[in-house]
Amino acid sequence: MTRPIAVVTGASSGIGRATARTLATEGFEVVCAARRTDRIEALAAEIDGRAVTCDVTKSEDVAALAEAAGERIAVLVANAGGALGTDHIADADFEDWRIMFDTNVIGSAATIQACLPALCAGRGVIVTVGSTAGLVSYEGAAGYCGAKAAEHAMMMSLRLELVEQPVRVCEVLPGLVESDEFSLVRFRGDTDKAAKVYAGVRNPLTQEDVASCIAFAATCPEHVNIDQLVVRPRVQAAAHKLLREDA
Ligand code: NAP
Repeated sequence: MTRPIAVVTGASSGIGRATARTLATEGFEVVCAARRTDRIEALAAEIDGRAVTCDVTKSEDVAALAEAAGERIAVLVANAGGALGTDHIADADFEDWRIMFDTNVIGSAATIQACLPALCAGRGVIVTVGSTAGLVSYEGAAGYCGAKAAEHAMMMSLRLELVEQPVRVCEVLPGLVESDEFSLVRFRGDTDKAAKVYAGVRNPLTQEDVASCIAFAATCPEHVNIDQLVVRPRVQAAAHKLLREDA
């Protein structure tokens, strides 16, 4: 029996990898996309899915991903992204900003655009992985907050634009998630700085928690659109209210 197709970008690590695993257990054939081929090939073998090497900032890669996914897509999880640096605007490195906007905003938009005909044919669901950083800004993150706010605005436009199509438009917006590499990438491999992000926080969200939210949004009945699903650890009452036990 053929399984419905789910495409997950950023599937080589963290939330994307956990989502690919969760959607596979829900009965989807998952097309796992990211830049690191070895990782997505291993994942695809584990979950009986497919691997497509794809940098979402390269239009030819995105076109090839859509082509490989086929004529009907049931779920697209535009998850590839992340943060770079914690500079204040006074000394920001705008090259980091360009990468953040290229990946989180234009990369997600381009992936959605390329997959849209197949999403319409498959009466599919689009889920972006935004962030609470796109809803409330914090200092040292103007580039990341700006990118996630732009991704959020884009999804609100998209929902209006697609109302005549049988396609749902959902955003999952997590707070603090202790994922595989988010903070390591942000701090360019500095493990001490990355560990401090979660220091003293009892039970930050796991990537599996977020994957469950994505799978929920992706598997609701066809008439149910989860516009926004904001999810935080219980100890994070708001962006700036994070309980640290040793603080
Ligand atoms: P992660 O472990 O660093 O995973 C990021 C994924 O994105 C990797 O698979 C990476 O794969 C992929 N990626 C990055 N640039 C890419 C590109 N140009 N083309 C294709 N894939 C690319 O971090 P994560 O926490 O799972 O992050 C996933 C998403 O959740 C991001 O959009 C992030 O902004 C969002 N988020 C994270 C948190 C958090 O606290 N962790 C909170 C809210 C939202 P390759 O390097 O192999 O390409």
